[in-house]
Amino acid sequence: MFCYDIIIMNGRDIVNKRLIFHIDVNNAYLSWSATEMLKKGYKKDIRNQVAIIGGDEAKRHGIVLAKSMPAKKYNIVTAESIYSARKKYKNLLIIPPDHKLYKKYSDELYEYLSTLTPYVERYSIDECFLDMSGMNHFIKDPEEFANEIKSKIKIKFGYTVNVGIGNNKLCAKVASDFEKPDKVHTLYDNEIENKLWPLNVDDLFMVGKQTAKRLQSLKINTVYDLAHYPKEKLLKNFKSYGNILYNYANGIDDSPVENERSELKGIGNSITLPKDYENKDDIKVKLLELSEQVGRRIRKDKKYAYVVTLYIKYNDFTKLTHQRKLKNPINTDDDIYKIVLFLLDEVELKPIRSLGIRLTDLTTDKLEQISLFDNIKNNNDNIENLQYTIDELKTKYGKDIIKRASIK
Ligand SMILES: [Mg+2]
Repeated sequence: MFCYDIIIMNGRDIVNKRLIFHIDVNNAYLSWSATEMLKKGYKKDIRNQVAIIGGDEAKRHGIVLAKSMPAKKYNIVTAESIYSARKKYKNLLIIPPDHKLYKKYSDELYEYLSTLTPYVERYSIDECFLDMSGMNHFIKDPEEFANEIKSKIKIKFGYTVNVGIGNNKLCAKVASDFEKPDKVHTLYDNEIENKLWPLNVDDLFMVGKQTAKRLQSLKINTVYDLAHYPKEKLLKNFKSYGNILYNYANGIDDSPVENERSELKGIGNSITLPKDYENKDDIKVKLLELSEQVGRRIRKDKKYAYVVTLYIKYNDFTKLTHQRKLKNPINTDDDIYKIVLFLLDEVELKPIRSLGIRLTDLTTDKLEQISLFDNIKNNNDNIENLQYTIDELKTKYGKDIIKRASIK
C-alpha cells in the first residue's frame, strides 16, 4: 500500500511521507538453530560457543553458512570451507542447517508481523518490510514502537532482530544494516546527508562487487560521490541502471511494500532457472517465454494490464522487483515483452536464480484513445487479432505450434 495522504496545514500542502520498517533477523540460521536446540533441552547456547552452521563435513564440500560471534573471533568467515574453518579452531562445533526449521521460524515471524499491519512483504527468509504509513495515529514515536516489536520478538521467539526505519524500503533496509545485533536505527529522508552519504559505495543496496569496481574506477568511492556525480555521465556508463544508482544514492525509492495479497492479485508466472543465468540473451529467451505465458492468460480473461512487474531473485538470495505503470493498458506478448526488456535494462546483471513477470492493475476496457493516426490504431488492432488467432491455434494444436524467428 503506498499512498500519500495530503494534509492541508496552515494553507500549505504537506505531503505525509511513508513510514516503512525493515525487520532483519540477526544471524538467522545460527539464531534459529540455537533457539530450537535450547527448546529441545540442549544446555548450551551455540551463539556463545565457537560454532557454525554448515554443510556436510564428510562430503568435504561443505561451507560455512553462518558463524557465531566467538567463531568470528577466530577469523572464521561465511562461505569458507568447513575444512579451512576447522583448521582455525580444532574443537569447532558444526551444526548442519535445517531448512525446514528455518522455513517454520520464518513463517511464525511473518504471521506475528502480519498482526501489526496487513502490509507485510516477506523479502527473504529472514527479512520483512512493514508499511506503517497509515498508522500515524497509533504510532506516536516510530522508534519506540520498533523497540517494542524488537523486544516482543525476543521474548516470544527467543532471538534478536534489527529494525530499520525510513520513508521508503531502500532507506529502511539500509538502516537495519547499520549496527548489529538487537538494534533499531532510522534513516529518514532528512538524515540522508548525515547517515547515507558517508557510506562506502559498496554498502549501497543493489551495488554488487562488479558495479562497485566500475564506480571506483570513476573515482566514485562514497555514496556522496555517487549522489553528486553528473547523472548524464552515469547514464552513459551504466545505461538505465545508472538511473537506479543515482536514485538509490539519493535515498529515492517509491517501490511499494507488496504483501502476499497483492502478489496474488493480477496475472503472473515465474520460473526457477536450471542454472544461474548471467548472460542477457539467455535471460531474454526466458523472459519471452514468460511474456507469452502471462500474455496468453490475460487474453484468455479478456483483460488488459496497466502495470508490468519484473521479479528477479539472484543467486545470493537477494530479490528485486521493478515495475512500470503504463498510460495505455496492454495485453499482447510483444507489448509485455517490450516493457519487460525495458525493465531488464534498468537492473544490475549478476547471476540470476529465478525470474517472474506479473501483470496488475487489470482492466476489461481497452482504452481507445482518439487518435489522428488511425492507421497506427488499425495496425495495433491487427496485431491483437493475430495474437488471438495464435492463442486459438496454440490451444488446438499445442503451444509449440508457432515459434518466433527471433527474440529481439
Ligand atoms: Mg538477517
